[in-house]
Amino acid sequence: MTETTVSDSTAAPLVVLSGVNKHFGALHVLQDIDLEIRQGEVVVLIGPSGSGKSTLCRTINRLETIDSGEISIDGRPLPAEGKQLAKLRAEVGMVFQSFNLFAHKTVLENVVLGQVKVRKVARPEAEKTAHALLERVGLAAHAAKYPAQLSGGQQQRVAIARALAMNPKVMLFDEPTSALDPEMINEVLEVMRSLAAEGMTMVVVTHEMGFARSAANRVLFMADGRIVEENTPEAFFTAPRSDRAKDFLSKIL
Ligand code: ADP
Ligand code: MG
Repeated sequence: MTETTVSDSTAAPLVVLSGVNKHFGALHVLQDIDLEIRQGEVVVLIGPSGSGKSTLCRTINRLETIDSGEISIDGRPLPAEGKQLAKLRAEVGMVFQSFNLFAHKTVLENVVLGQVKVRKVARPEAEKTAHALLERVGLAAHAAKYPAQLSGGQQQRVAIARALAMNPKVMLFDEPTSALDPEMINEVLEVMRSLAAEGMTMVVVTHEMGFARSAANRVLFMADGRIVEENTPEAFFTAPRSDRAKDFLSKIL
């Protein structure tokens, strides 16, 4: 595994999945998943459609329950429900393919709301944080607009700012650029690259292999609900070991 200045192999893992299984009816969608993600690590998850990538992400912030196994974040098992679960969700930021912004709230309000409602931050402070985060994602000038007045790339950057406003320990990105026009993909990837460089722990499902090569510490390849292969991006892309990975890469590269 490659070591970078921001990931420390001696640190306790931040996210741990052990023996995780999940079914949808007869479909065994996650099969014996064991995974440890260290503080500051950027893990890219790739694999064919239907292999379980989204489901894996969704189990990490408990949008999906699991049938067996354990998931812990920062040493604590995922709570089942209630207030503790809301708190956990705040600690695990998630950005989806569809931006899911509140259409009838301004950009600023989209970034303020969770802070006030979930984290109980006082409004003036929440607004200050929101302005700083909008600046960080390059949208300081758009705070008073509504989502529909922004491009897809801009809306996705608001979604990232909104997730960051919850002060998450880890950020999950599920195909964050898949719904974007090509010319908007880079502005979103740039924000993600800068987050990675600042030491954010990230799990990223993406088809952007350039991003995987340049930003990932580790690539996980999933097929049929299993992590079939994991390696550094360099090793994975130049010398995939499994037939499934070779086949997948031959189709996308
Ligand atoms: P990926 O993100 O890798 O494309 P998903 O995690 O979305 O894969 O889906 C994995 C499998 O689980 C697919 O066969 C999908 O159809 C199925 N699946 C996902 N969500 C549900 C659900 N809520 N109910 C039933 N089947 C589901
Ligand atoms: Mg998916």
